[in-house]
Amino acid sequence: WLSVTGGFSNQDAISNYFSGIVMDITEQKQNDLRRSKFIGMVSHELKTPLTALKAYVQMLNNWAKKQKDSFTIGALSKVDKQVRKMLNMINSLLNLSGAEAGKIHLNKTEFILDQLINEVVEETLFITSSHNIVVVPCDMITINADRDKIEQVLVNLLSNAAKYSDKASPIEIGCALKGEAVEISITDDGLGIAPEDIAKLFLPHYRVESKETEKIAGFGIGLYLCSEIVQKHGGKIWVESELGKGSTFKFTVPLN
Ligand code: ADP
Repeated sequence: WLSVTGGFSNQDAISNYFSGIVMDITEQKQNDLRRSKFIGMVSHELKTPLTALKAYVQMLNNWAKKQKDSFTIGALSKVDKQVRKMLNMINSLLNLSGAEAGKIHLNKTEFILDQLINEVVEETLFITSSHNIVVVPCDMITINADRDKIEQVLVNLLSNAAKYSDKASPIEIGCALKGEAVEISITDDGLGIAPEDIAKLFLPHYRVESKETEKIAGFGIGLYLCSEIVQKHGGKIWVESELGKGSTFKFTVPLN
């Protein structure tokens, strides 16, 4: 097509056109970076007072327990639940800004998977307590991975299982050795996901739009972060699901 139109002025126009596209992409990338820096900064600022608030709630709770003041204990447990929810959301936003800036660094240590799973089940009770949680033990498998990041993946998947299913429905956490990797699965009896949504589920900010999901709060970044973390470990993450019948999210982590 250059030869059809010929001439320098057309060549200049074409090269201007392409450099325009390159500029657009660079500008967009810079805007994305600025946005994720801003999100990171704001989340960090919000985290400090919330962490202090959590500590004061704990202190008051100890005092109320000594006084055997059941009304205050009840009220504080509600405050504690909301503060933890907010901290979870802020942690997700902080991680998102890190992931978008290409900053997921792994700090690997050896740890027993069963212990981590039990801790995560305890830690998320404030979201999952109305469910019947079944944990299939991992036979004390030891893995070499970033413990905090694998914890984030488990917290996200477990809280999603609770968020997108009926209260009192069962949630099962399973574990299986697959060659040189461990496969962890989280199964719920919840809403399930349609095939067209499954394809986009792990993209940033993707949320399923339906009558049921519009009442459930979220940013659509939990699964994106899970997939970034799992891939950084050299593992895979996917979902097996049928609309109306529940979902099983699975991910693998190489043992070493
Ligand atoms: P969020 O839950 O904050 O919206 P996620 O990235 O964790 O963000 O999930 C993306 C979307 O995937 C959710 O909005 C929801 O529609 C769908 N989803 C995630 N987990 C489940 C699940 N266990 N069952 C049904 N849908 C789910």
